[in-house]
Amino acid sequence: MSNTTTINAFAATQPGGSLEPFTYDVGELRPNEVEIDVQYCGICHSDLSMINNEWGMSQYPLVGGHEVIGKVAGVGANVDHLAVGTTVGLGWHSGYCGHCESCHSGDENLCAEAQGTIVARHGGFADKVRADATSVVIVPEGIDLKSAGPLLCGGITVFNPLVQFDVKSTDKVAVIGIGGLGHMALKFLSHWGCEVTAFTSSESKREEALNMGAHKTLNSRDEAEIKDAANRFDFIISTVNVKLEWHRYVNALKPKGRLHFVGAALEPLDIGAMSLISGQRSISGSPVGSPSTIETMFDFANRHQIQPEVEMFPMSQINEAIDRLRSGEARYRVVLSNV
Ligand code: NAP
Ligand code: ZN
Ligand code: ZN
Repeated sequence: MSNTTTINAFAATQPGGSLEPFTYDVGELRPNEVEIDVQYCGICHSDLSMINNEWGMSQYPLVGGHEVIGKVAGVGANVDHLAVGTTVGLGWHSGYCGHCESCHSGDENLCAEAQGTIVARHGGFADKVRADATSVVIVPEGIDLKSAGPLLCGGITVFNPLVQFDVKSTDKVAVIGIGGLGHMALKFLSHWGCEVTAFTSSESKREEALNMGAHKTLNSRDEAEIKDAANRFDFIISTVNVKLEWHRYVNALKPKGRLHFVGAALEPLDIGAMSLISGQRSISGSPVGSPSTIETMFDFANRHQIQPEVEMFPMSQINEAIDRLRSGEARYRVVLSNV
C-alpha cells in the first residue's frame, strides 16, 4: 500500500451538529498500527454524548464510531499476529501504554494512558480507521459480522462486570435500561444462568425484554414497583444515562449485593452511606473491558449464539441513523454499513 491513505469519514464540526463528509490524510502506518477497512460500525450512546460534548472532552471535527467490524487493510512493520484480510473488531480503545500496572495485569481498559478511538483521534464513521494492533481483536468464525459491531463497546461493557465481580449462575440480577447496552446484558445474563429482571421505562419493551431472556420486568421509574423488589437482587447493573432514584435501587439489593454503573449518568448519586453499611452493600462502575475479555465474550457469544438486535443503515445515511438513536425508538442498536 502507499505511504499515505486518504480516509473518507463523517464528522461533526460543532457540538450537537449534524455530520458532514470529512476527508483526512493519514501518514505512513506506524510500526505498531493496523489499518482497518470498516465494514460495519455500531452507534453507541457515547458517540452521541461525544458529538454533543456532554463530557467536555470533544475535539472538532469529531469523527465518532467505536464499534467497528472490518478487515485488516495494512499492518505496521512490528505487527506479526494480524494479516491483511483478517476480520477484526475495534472498540472504545485504540491503544494502551503497554507498561503500566494495569496493562501488565491484563487490565488494559483501566490504563490511564489508554487512547479513546474517538477522543483526540478519528473513529469508525468512515471507510477506514487506524489503531494500535494491541487494541484490535480477531473476530472468530461463526460470529455474524453485520450485528457484531455493538459487541465491541456496548456488549463488552455489560459482559465485563460478570467476569470482574464473579456473578454466579444462581444470582438474581437486574438490568436497568433496555437500550443498546441493556438488551445485550439481558442476553448475556440469561445465558450465564441467572434469574434476570429488566427494569425499563418503556412499557412497549416489557414483552420484548422477556423474549430476550428476562424472566421478569419492572418499571424503572415506578416507586412502588422498585419498593416491592426490596432485598431481591445480588447484582444490579445500570445502563441508563439519566438520574434515577438510586437509593431505592440500593434497597432492592440483598445483603452483600452490588449496584454497578456502566451508564454514564452525570448527576451525583443520591445514596447514603448507611444504606451501604447495613447489609454490606457496594456500589461500583467500570469501563468497557480488556482485549482478552473481549475474546472471552466472543467465545461465549459464539457458543450461545448471542447476537445484538440491530437496525441497519447505510453509512451515507448516518444522520438519519443517529436521529434514530436519539429518538429512543431504536430496537436495539443502530449499525452503519459500508458493505
Ligand atoms: P441507549 O441505547 O440510548 O440506551 C439507554 C437506555 O436508558 C434507554 O434505552 C432507556 O431504556 C433508558 N433511559 C433513557 N432515558 C431514560 C429516562 N429518562 N428514564 C429512564 N430510563 C431512561 O444507550 P446505550 O448505548 O445503551 O448507552 C447507555 C449508557 O452507557 C450511555 O450513558 C453511554 O455513554 C454509556 N456507556 C458506557 C460505557 C462504559 O464503558 N461504562 C460503554 C458504552 C456506553 P428503557 O427504554 O428500557 O427505559
Ligand atoms: Zn497502561
Ligand atoms: Zn460505546
